[in-house]
Amino acid sequence: MDTPLPATAISKDIIARLSAIVGPAHALTDPELIAPYVREERDLYAGRTLLVLRPGSVEEVSAIMALAQETRTPIVPQGGNTGLVGGQSPRSEAEVVLSLSRLNRIRDVDPAGRTMVVEAGVVLSAAQRAADEAGFLFPLSLGAEGSCQIGGNLASNAGGTNVLAYGNTRELCLGIEAVLPGGGIYHGLRRLKKDNRGYDLKDLLIGSEGTLAVITAAVLRLFPRPAGREVAYVGLSSPQAALRLLKLAEGRAGTQLTAFELMPRIGMEFTIRHTTGARDPLSQPHEWYVLIEISSARSAEDARTTLEEILADAFEAGDVEDAAIAQSLSDAADFWRMREEMSWAQKPEGGSIKHDVSVPVALVPTFLDRAGAAVLAAMPGARIVSFGHMGDGNIHYNISQPVGADKAAFLARWGEMNAIVHGIVAELGGSFSAEHGIGQLKRDELARSKAGLEMSLMHGIKALFDPSGILNPGKLLQADVIRVDQG
Ligand SMILES: Cc1cc2nc3c(=O)[nH]c(=O)nc-3n(C[C@H](O)[C@H](O)[C@H](O)COP(=O)(O)OP(=O)(O)OC[C@H]3O[C@@H](n4cnc5c(N)ncnc54)[C@H](O)[C@@H]3O)c2cc1C
Repeated sequence: MDTPLPATAISKDIIARLSAIVGPAHALTDPELIAPYVREERDLYAGRTLLVLRPGSVEEVSAIMALAQETRTPIVPQGGNTGLVGGQSPRSEAEVVLSLSRLNRIRDVDPAGRTMVVEAGVVLSAAQRAADEAGFLFPLSLGAEGSCQIGGNLASNAGGTNVLAYGNTRELCLGIEAVLPGGGIYHGLRRLKKDNRGYDLKDLLIGSEGTLAVITAAVLRLFPRPAGREVAYVGLSSPQAALRLLKLAEGRAGTQLTAFELMPRIGMEFTIRHTTGARDPLSQPHEWYVLIEISSARSAEDARTTLEEILADAFEAGDVEDAAIAQSLSDAADFWRMREEMSWAQKPEGGSIKHDVSVPVALVPTFLDRAGAAVLAAMPGARIVSFGHMGDGNIHYNISQPVGADKAAFLARWGEMNAIVHGIVAELGGSFSAEHGIGQLKRDELARSKAGLEMSLMHGIKALFDPSGILNPGKLLQADVIRVDQG
């Protein structure tokens, strides 16, 4: 079980045997063709590999995993390569990237049961489109939806902007098909809402970041398409006012409240500065903003009335300074664009130290106050761009370098800033990984933060699924401490 992984590059013989499974056209060895698979979004990890395999069927995935186990070849599953914690990046020339992108069929849509079976390589936006064409909504939505894939979404239990009403990816999945190290196929494409026959392996695989099995297909839940959806852009003075607005909106709209996103003024300024065509929906600047979305199963008028009532009450309570309700689909798209581009707009501003944290929703303002004070005390001039899914208590707490600072010197303080922010998160009972996962970036912090028993159980599960440690080694868990003791 503690078989050490090969320290040297994969041999020519193994490359040839693995390549023969998918055929030469789908086994990439040319560095130029490999380049997009080893580059990752944040340039935090320079991935290395000599081979990218692009299987076209579950059987090919199974054959690859069987040979990988036999030859002790580490395999790194990869979807759209949009992950933000380095989970999809190969760490050495001993590792092979297994790209699922050719498994991209919608196998079926079942309108009566409101499900669809999609393969792991289906791009999220294509899954959304397939649901829409069948008259339904697949509600998972995130900034990377044009390139991330369902397999990656499941493996990272992605969240996004609709969690408030529909839950994380885990809540959107009824069944999974996956290939285990060694090649065994787990046939779990069930469409059941209720199935209490023992341990739920599907839930174990969701969020396992490619360390337990390779997901090849899934049964996804579909929802009625809302008859009306209304969006408002709201200016307010503080996160406390935003929290009161959230409580008011939840009370008034219940499950009709489908998004509640918080943004700071500085994030708006970055977005306006760096996004072509972006404009402030409000006439005056405000310290904070909320994008609020109400969906109604009945009609657009119903959604509009609910939204207007919420805003009227919030104005009266003095919690809202200004608000604009989208008057058209294009307005609504512009409002959403301001929120979605905020992730990208930090890049041109220099280095950015990232945190993806969650705290109990009622403590978001406390967290922002405390973290803001502590970060600025440690680094005067730091520009804090804290935005995200306030309705879920999930804040992307990003720190852009002070104007004129040296980027490398600033980034060298990543660990120090993490310690400050994550320390406050821990004191508030929160999580230092709300939705992006652990990957390489937070692996050691995970080991430090969880109790010994919890880590032991996790290593035990890993050893059970992947006794040779060939599947995405060094991600989520340390590769060299596979153990099953219960101490
Ligand atoms: C602009 C932007 C915005 C984002 N917004 C959000 C957001 O709002 N919410 C959120 O949760 N995330 C967000 N993310 C990160 C998010 O985790 C990913 O975008 C997405 O879920 C990962 O899918 P992917 O196909 O790109 O997976 P990859 O990046 O390729 O892989 C991610 C992990 O899953 C594993 N994996 C991939 N496919 C499989 C498979 N078939 N079987 C087993 N393991 C697999 C990989 O090994 C890796 O550990 C954002 C990313 C970007 C770039």
